[in-house]
Amino acid sequence: MSFNVDLTNCDREPIHIPGQIQPHGFLIVVDSDFIIRYHSENVSDFIVGLPTRLLGTPLDEVEYVLYPNEQTGYISQLITLGKNTKTFEQINPFQFELNGRDYYMIIQPVNDLYLLEFEPVTAEMSVDMQRMIGRSISEMLADKNLQNLLNNSAEQVKKVIGYDRVMIYRFAPDGHGEVIAEAKNHDLEPWLGLHYPATDIPRQARELYKLNFTRLIADVNSIPSKIFTLADGEPQPLDLTCSQLRAVSPIHIQYLKNMEVSSSFSISLLYKKELWGLIACHNYTPRYIDYKARESSKLIGQILSSALEFRQDEENQQLQDHLFNSVEKLSKHMQRSNSIEDALNAPDANVLDVTYAKGAVLIYENNTIKFGTVPADDDLARLLEWIKTDVTDTFFCTDHLSAKYPAALAYKEVASGIIVSTISKEMGEYIIWFKPEQLQHITWAGNPEKPVEIDSNGLLNISPRKSFEAWSETVTARSESWSNEEVKAVIRLKEELTYAINQKASAIRLLNEKLKQAYEELDTFSFTISHDLKNPISVIKSYSQLLTRDASIRPEAQRVIDRIIDRADKMNYMINEVLDYSRIGRSEIDFVNVETAPMLNEIIKDLTMVYDSAKLQVTVGETPGVQGDPVMLSQVFSNLLSNAFKYSQRSDPQQVSIEGKATENGILYQIKDNGLGIDIKQLPKIFELFNRTDNVKDIEGSGVGLAIVKRIVEKHRGKIWVDSEPGKGSTFFVEFSNPV
Ligand code: ADP
Repeated sequence: MSFNVDLTNCDREPIHIPGQIQPHGFLIVVDSDFIIRYHSENVSDFIVGLPTRLLGTPLDEVEYVLYPNEQTGYISQLITLGKNTKTFEQINPFQFELNGRDYYMIIQPVNDLYLLEFEPVTAEMSVDMQRMIGRSISEMLADKNLQNLLNNSAEQVKKVIGYDRVMIYRFAPDGHGEVIAEAKNHDLEPWLGLHYPATDIPRQARELYKLNFTRLIADVNSIPSKIFTLADGEPQPLDLTCSQLRAVSPIHIQYLKNMEVSSSFSISLLYKKELWGLIACHNYTPRYIDYKARESSKLIGQILSSALEFRQDEENQQLQDHLFNSVEKLSKHMQRSNSIEDALNAPDANVLDVTYAKGAVLIYENNTIKFGTVPADDDLARLLEWIKTDVTDTFFCTDHLSAKYPAALAYKEVASGIIVSTISKEMGEYIIWFKPEQLQHITWAGNPEKPVEIDSNGLLNISPRKSFEAWSETVTARSESWSNEEVKAVIRLKEELTYAINQKASAIRLLNEKLKQAYEELDTFSFTISHDLKNPISVIKSYSQLLTRDASIRPEAQRVIDRIIDRADKMNYMINEVLDYSRIGRSEIDFVNVETAPMLNEIIKDLTMVYDSAKLQVTVGETPGVQGDPVMLSQVFSNLLSNAFKYSQRSDPQQVSIEGKATENGILYQIKDNGLGIDIKQLPKIFELFNRTDNVKDIEGSGVGLAIVKRIVEKHRGKIWVDSEPGKGSTFFVEFSNPV
C-alpha cells in the first residue's frame, strides 16, 4: 500500500511549507523527544506502508516500516549516541535496505531538531573507494609544480565522481573567479582561463560553501519536494543550512540551465578557513552521486586545500623573508648612519626593496628622494596635497588609486597602486610606494556588467547571464594587488624608522645636555657678578647706618633709612643664596660615605630650638648612609627639613618626620610635614630659582632653597619629587642612586 500525502481534511493540516528539498532523497525531522516535526512530501514515494499521519507521531512508530530488519528505537539510539559524543561523523552515513534498495541515512543536528536525510546508495560508487582515493591522492601530490597539482586534482575528482567537466575555480579578492585548472570530456570546449563575475556566486552562497564543503545539485530539472510541518502556532522555518538535500535557489537553477548544465557538484577549497576556490563539477545529464562518493571528493578537496595552504605558506614565507631581509638591512643602516635619508638609500638596499613596487618616494625633513619610476614632480606635489588632506590613516593602500583620486588616472602607467606610510603627518613626512597599471585582459564568461535583466513580464529580474560567449574586458587603472607580505614589510619598516628617529632624538637630547653645560658655565658668570654686587651693597648699608647716627634726622627719614638697610640685608642674603646655587653648578663631587644620622640630629636640634616645642612632634626613622659630598648633603637635608618646619609652623600638633630606606635603585629619603601643602598647579615650579607659592607670601623665604637642593641631588645622580596636598602637608622624596 502506498501512502498518499493528502492531509487536506485533517484539522492539523500541514500548510506551512518552510522549504523544499531535492527529490532524489527524502527528509524526516524529529525533535529531541523523537517526535516527527517536519517531513518532505516525497517520503511516500520511497516508503510503502507509512502511517497516514506522520507529523506529531513518535519516530518509533514509523521505524518498523523504515527498517524492518532493525529493532525499534534504533534511530533514537543513534541520535542519542551522536548527541552524547557531540558528533555524528562516526555515525554518518548509516546504511540500510529499504524495499530491496540500499539507502544511507545522514543525521544532522540543527538547533533542537535532528534532520534525518535519506538518499540512495549508488551501486557504481560502491567500488573500493578508499583504495581509489589513496591512489588519487598520491597521483595528485606527485608533482611539485602548483599548476600540475591543480590539474591532477581536477583529473582525480573527475575519476571519482565521473562528471563531464571538473574545474578548479579560484576567487580573486574582489570576489570574481577564474578557472585555473580543468579536466573535461574531449568534446567539450575548454573553459580554462575564463573569468566569472562576483555576482555569479553571491556572498551568501560563498558563506554556505564555508559551512558545507560539498554541494550536489543532482538534476536541475527535477521538481523539488516540499517540506511539511504542522500549522500550530508560529511554525519555525526549518534551517536547511547543513542539509545535504537542500533545494536549489531558482536563480541558481536558471544560471545552470543557461549553461546547459544538468547536474552540478562542488567542493570547497579553503585557505586559512576562508574560501579560496571551488572544485566545480558540471554534468550535462542529470547525475546523482551518493554520500560516500561526495565524502571522498570532499577528502580530495581537503587534501588539495592543505597542499595549497602549505605551498602558499611556503611561497609567502619566501616572499616575506626576501622583503624582511631588506627591512633588516635598512634598519641596520639607520642604526649606523646619522642620516635617515642616506640609510634608506644605501647601495645594497633602499626603500624600494621593501615591496615589489616599481617606484617609491621618501619625503623626510624637507627632502624628497625618489626611487624607481614615480609620477612627475607636479603630479607628485598634487598627490601629496591630496594625501595630506584626504588620507587620515597612517597606513593607506590601494590598487586602484584613480577610484579614490581621479587625477591619478593621468599617470596610471606609473601609479595605479600606492601604499602611503606616514612618518609624521604634522611634518608632512611620508614614504609612498607606486605600482604601475597592470593591464589585465580578462576573458569573462558572459558580460559581467549585465547580471540584471528585464523578465518577460517587464519586471526587473535578477537573472543569471544568458550569454556565455567569451567577453573580453580590459581592466584599466589597476595595479597588481599589494600582498600581505608587502604590507607587513612596510609596517615593519615604519616601526624600525620610528625607532631610529627616536634614537636620533636621543642624540639631540645629548646635544641638549651639552647646551646645558654651557648654560651652567653662565653660572660662573653670575657668581662673579653676584660677588661683585656684594661690595656696593655693603657700602650702601654702611652709609645708611652712618646716616642713622645723626640725631637730628626726622623720624620719617629714619624709617626710610631703616627700610634701605633692611632691603640691603635682604639683597645680601639673596646674593649669598645665588652664590651658593652657582657654586654647586661649578663644583665636582667627591663621593664619600656619609653617615646621615649625626648630620640629621644636628639639623633637627637647631630647628627645634626655633619652633614652639610644646606642639612639635618630630619623628626620625631609619637613617641609612648616603654616598656623596657631606657639605652638600647637609644642605639638602637642612633645606628640606627647615622648609618642613617652616611651612608647618601653624599646625597643631606640628608634625615633621624623616626616614630613609634602601630601594633597588639606591637610598630613598622622605621628609614629611603636616603644614600648608602646595597647590598641584604650582608643584612643578617650586624647584625653580626664586619661585615661591602664593600661600607662603607672609612667611620669610627667598625661593632659592629647593633650587639648590635639586641641583645638589641631580649632581649626586639622584632624583627629587614631591607629593603634597594643600592644607594637609607635603612629603618630599629624595632618591640617591647607587654608586656606579
Ligand atoms: P623658600 O625660601 O621660599 O622656602 P624654597 O626654594 O625652599 O624657598 O621653596 C620654594 C617654595 O616651595 C616655597 O616658597 C614654598 O612655596 C614651597 N615649599 C617648599 N617646601 C614646602 C613645604 N614643606 N610645604 C609647603 N610649601 C613648601
